[in-house]
Amino acid sequence: MAVKIVESCVNCWACQPLCPSDAIYEAQPHFLVDAKRCTECDGEYADPQCASICPIECAIVDGLGEALNPLGSLTNIPLAKLLAMA
Ligand code: SF4
Ligand code: SF4
Repeated sequence: MAVKIVESCVNCWACQPLCPSDAIYEAQPHFLVDAKRCTECDGEYADPQCASICPIECAIVDGLGEALNPLGSLTNIPLAKLLAMA
């Protein structure tokens, strides 16, 4: 399994140097993860290092498409409030 960077990535470069597998690379229109290299940091760190530093909610998803930093997880804004603002 590998994580995936999706379109909400803002190309901030924060995750790229942290990846122990050198799996994250600059691309257009946003950074991408080489699925062949990504180990989900298994055996090296308790949490995926890219998601642990990513400042954008929902920019990195797991192999099932679930956001590693879901809506509201970094801002602490309750999901119900976010949905009401949408
Ligand atoms: S989960 Fe770990 S190995 Fe995979 S891209 Fe993120 S930092 Fe790299
Ligand atoms: S840390 Fe998040 S927003 Fe920044 S480049 Fe990586 S995936 Fe994109």
